[in-house]
Amino acid sequence: MEAPVLYIVIPCYNEEEALPITAKRLVELTDDMIARALIAPESRIALVDDGSRDKTWEVICALNREDKRFQGIKLAHNAGHMNALWAGMSMVCEHCDALVTIDADLQDDVNAIYGFLEKYREGCDVVYGVRNDRSKDTAFKRATAQGFYKMMHRLGVEMVYNHADYRLLSRRAVEALLQFGEVNMFLRGMVPLLGFKSAQVFYERGERVAGESKYPLKKMLGFAVEGITSFSNKPIRFVTLLGLICALLGVAMLIYVLVSLFAGNSVAGWASMMMSIWLLGGMQLIALGLIGEYVGKIYMETKRRPKFILEEYRK
Ligand code: UDP
Ligand code: MG
Repeated sequence: MEAPVLYIVIPCYNEEEALPITAKRLVELTDDMIARALIAPESRIALVDDGSRDKTWEVICALNREDKRFQGIKLAHNAGHMNALWAGMSMVCEHCDALVTIDADLQDDVNAIYGFLEKYREGCDVVYGVRNDRSKDTAFKRATAQGFYKMMHRLGVEMVYNHADYRLLSRRAVEALLQFGEVNMFLRGMVPLLGFKSAQVFYERGERVAGESKYPLKKMLGFAVEGITSFSNKPIRFVTLLGLICALLGVAMLIYVLVSLFAGNSVAGWASMMMSIWLLGGMQLIALGLIGEYVGKIYMETKRRPKFILEEYRK
C-alpha cells in the first residue's frame, strides 16, 4: 500500500496563543511521518478559522506563507466547533486519502496518529481516539462528561465512550459522512452510524498547551442538549408515558372521589373538579406525546440522512 495523503484538520477559535506551539509540534510530527514513509509528502495541515476575534487568521496566514504544508480555511462567522470541523472536512475531502481531526490545543496526544495510521493500513475506515484517563480534566468536567455518556447510552444513542472529536476517517468514510443532510450536527453520534470497520486507539489526554477552554459551561450544556435532541426521540416518549401515568392516577382518583361523594363527605363541586383535573390533565399529556411522536418523525425526515452507506459494489 502506498503511503496515504493525510490531511490534519484543526478547528481554531481564538487560538492565537496555542496555534504557534501546535503548528511547530505538527511540523515535527509530519516531517517524521513523511521521512518514515507513513504518509505521502503531499499531506497537509488544514487550519479552519472559526470566525475568531483575535489574531488567529493572521497566524494561519503567516504559517501558510512560510510552509506550504499549512492551509487556511476562514469561516465568515463563528459557526461552532462541529460546523468548523464539517467545513474543514468538506473542503479537503477530495484531496486526501484519509484525514485526522484534532483540537487546536493539543490536549489530545498527536503521537496517537501513528496508531491511527496503523489501523488505517489494516483496513479500518474509522479510527477513534479514546482517552484512557481524565485525570487532567477538572473533577467537574469529568463528572459531567461521564454522566453525559451514560445518559446518551440510556437514550439509545450509540457513542464511543471517552472519545471526543479526535479521529481518523478514510476518504470514503468522509464522503459518506458528508451525505448526512442534517444541520444539527453531533459528529460523535453520526460517525458510528456510518458502520464502516472501525478501531480504537488509546492515549493520554493532556492539558491545553496555551490559552483557555473555548467550551464554557453554557456551551457544554448546549452541546449536550444538541446531542440528545439530534439523536433521540425518547424524551417525547417520556411525555406520553407521563400522560399514561397521570391518566391511570386519574382513574384511581375517580374511584376515590366517587366513594367520597356517595359517602357524603365532600363539598359541592369538589368531585367534578377533581375528576376533570386528573382525567383532562392525563389526556392532555397523552395527546401532547402523540403529537410529539409525529413532530419527532418530521424531525427525523427533515434530517435527510442517507438510507444506506455503500461499502463495496463488485461488478
Ligand atoms: N472551537 C471552535 N469553535 C468554537 C469553539 C471551539 O472551532 O466555537 C475549537 C477550539 O478552537 C478547539 C476545539 O474546538 O480547537 C475544542 O475546544 P476546546 O479545546 O476549547 O474545548 P475543551 O477541550 O475545553 O472541551
Ligand atoms: Mg481542549
